[in-house]
Amino acid sequence: MSLDVKTHYPLQPHNTFAIECYADTFIEIASPEDLGGVVQRYNGGPFLVLGGGSNLLFDQSQIHTPVLWANLKGIELLETRDNEVIVRAMAGENWHEFVQWCLQRDYGGLENLSLIPGSVGAAPVQNIGAYGVEVKDTLYQVEAFNLSDGTIRHFSAEECQFAYRDSFFKHAGGSQWIIVSVSFRLSRHDHQLKLDYGAIRTTLEAAQIISPTIRDVSEAVVAIRRERLPDPRQTPNAGSFFKNPITDRQAYEQLIRRNPEMPCFELADGQVKIPAGWLIEQCGWKGGQLGNAAVHEQHALVLVNLGGATGDEIMALAGEIQNDVKLRFGVMLELEVNPSSRATPS
Ligand SMILES: Cc1cc2nc3c(=O)[nH]c(=O)nc-3n(C[C@H](O)[C@H](O)[C@H](O)COP(=O)(O)OP(=O)(O)OC[C@H]3O[C@@H](n4cnc5c(N)ncnc54)[C@H](O)[C@@H]3O)c2cc1C
Repeated sequence: MSLDVKTHYPLQPHNTFAIECYADTFIEIASPEDLGGVVQRYNGGPFLVLGGGSNLLFDQSQIHTPVLWANLKGIELLETRDNEVIVRAMAGENWHEFVQWCLQRDYGGLENLSLIPGSVGAAPVQNIGAYGVEVKDTLYQVEAFNLSDGTIRHFSAEECQFAYRDSFFKHAGGSQWIIVSVSFRLSRHDHQLKLDYGAIRTTLEAAQIISPTIRDVSEAVVAIRRERLPDPRQTPNAGSFFKNPITDRQAYEQLIRRNPEMPCFELADGQVKIPAGWLIEQCGWKGGQLGNAAVHEQHALVLVNLGGATGDEIMALAGEIQNDVKLRFGVMLELEVNPSSRATPS
């Protein structure tokens, strides 16, 4: 089967920041055979792998590295055990639709991750997380294709080296892999609900739900997210632009002495997570604007494209925010979003 190669292909519809950008070469990966064709034709890369474009910032107007759109489809039940199932979804499946597929069959574990934009294949790359749950909690295996030599490898959760919004696939050596499918170990009936994060419990109580099911939890999460987060179709954005910084105890003690009102979350390993949104807000950036790029008025962690912003403009705003937070708090904010220039040589 021949490869579907497009040239000077517009990427604006493929990124939730709605940045105008063109790929010199754009290849849709719709079948595993396409991957073999890519290795043969492009001699091992490099490539930029694209899922739903909800965590990428195109900070170049033209991408010279071939862009591979991971659009493999399919979901299947691999195994049924006493109280668990193993389910595999191909990388190009929409994440939220996959979560709904699981909920319809009463498979539990992903309900708190409802409505996160993007694809199944990108979920382990970032170790996506929300409302007290991360993908690593239920991940069974990642099937990935090596774009350098055409081999397939199965990574266990341990081999994925998950951390907060981080995994093996974001580091040197990891970028030569394209994730083909992801398998999850989910509960069948004895579900362990996680209700104590954010407004899940109060939302369920307000709906007078006393014994919630996994579907009730998902619906509560969807309602909270719809109310609180800007919809990229109306306000182009890529969710949290920065990671919440994690400091050791000593650095935290110094910070809290100077800023006694600073919120924080104690982590199990003794470190402390500080909400980046609070730091940004203290620096006066909430609702702030630089050219066509802005900080959302209700969410200081979300940068938005007001219309016609370039990736450079968004990065310039991000740089100003990083400088101000560093000056005032001595904390360097790390990007959660992936700039395309860091993944591809120009
Ligand atoms: C409104 C909004 C809310 C969000 N809320 C959350 C949230 O609550 N929690 C959270 O964790 N994230 C959140 N995000 C971020 C985003 O949804 C996730 O990071 C998501 O997993 C990105 O998926 P994607 O398919 O769009 O990835 P892309 O943006 O296309 O790619 C992201 C990265 O993964 C790589 N990649 C993509 N597919 C593959 C593949 N098949 N193989 C190898 N590498 C691949 C890309 O090269 C890139 O480095 C939010 C984003 C938005 C816009």
